[in-house]
Amino acid sequence: MRVITGRGIPPGMARAVAAMALCGPAWAGSVPARFQYTEVHMGVQTRIVLYADSQARAESAASAAFRRIARLDDTMSDYRASSELMRLCARAGQGPVKVSPDLFRVLLRCDELHERSGGAFDPTVGPIVALWRTARKTGRLPPVAELESARALVGWSNVDLERRRRTVTLKRPGMRLDLGGIAKGYACDAALAEIRRHGIRSAMIEMGGDIVLGARPPDLRGWRIDVPNAAEVMALSNCAVSTSGDAEQYVEFAGVRYSHIVDPRTGLGLTSRISVTVIAPRGELSDGLSTAISVMGRDAGLRLAARYPGVRVFMRAPAEARQR
Ligand code: ADP
Ligand code: MG
Repeated sequence: MRVITGRGIPPGMARAVAAMALCGPAWAGSVPARFQYTEVHMGVQTRIVLYADSQARAESAASAAFRRIARLDDTMSDYRASSELMRLCARAGQGPVKVSPDLFRVLLRCDELHERSGGAFDPTVGPIVALWRTARKTGRLPPVAELESARALVGWSNVDLERRRRTVTLKRPGMRLDLGGIAKGYACDAALAEIRRHGIRSAMIEMGGDIVLGARPPDLRGWRIDVPNAAEVMALSNCAVSTSGDAEQYVEFAGVRYSHIVDPRTGLGLTSRISVTVIAPRGELSDGLSTAISVMGRDAGLRLAARYPGVRVFMRAPAEARQR
């Protein structure tokens, strides 16, 4: 996704420069200047653009935001055995486990998305996602028997959330949660909140296909976002934009392309070639909805989106993805 701002620098260039202000000295007096920083988090280039009245303030806000994202990665990563999420999974089948407020909040949102999507959004797909990841590396389809045993561990009804004690129970040993469909959007929201705590209103956080926007840049109508699947550049602010699809992560066997998003009902990576962009008030919602709608297809997906005020959907949906 391209992000274009008024006095910007081509995004490609920014990616090569880690955690460095690119237009610091331009600020003068009370006119806020544009600062841009990049670091790698959750496996993707993470970009922060913000407007501040001093370089010192810009840097402390951006580094606090990156630290917050790094902590959330420690909470929600399914790549690291030491993350809070993986430690929770290690205790599957052993009763309730108290979790952090962030993890509980994400799981509550997952619970709502699961229910409203009729089961299309389901973070218990972890064991299946793991098999497809291996398939991408080895170039071999997951063995049918392994897919079958992985599928037996999938099911949100095996997750209990207890609000008062903030505990999570994973009822079956071997269950594995995967928050890849929502974690980056949530992390962008948290990063924006951190930047706001530093007194900065105009900011943008981009993590791969997920973008969260604060107030508009001082000299523009909005953040100029080239919205995938809308084929237009929009001036946006105070909202989030997420895109899901198989453009980057997929595996191909016998001419069929399987996405990294799996249909919990079949255990297979999506083959529909659908690509969905969601604009929503918050990143946790745009991210979760774009994944859910990808699984649901166009018609059911649009019905789901209609239940959320302030949500807009743009998609490229080949015929087979239209109805479910
Ligand atoms: P990206 O990771 O490219 O930003 P998404 O936000 O759509 O794309 O998330 C895809 C990820 O969501 C997968 O890599 C996997 O971790 C997880 N996932 C896959 N299928 C589902 C599903 N049916 N429900 C919830 N999460 C899923
Ligand atoms: Mg998503």
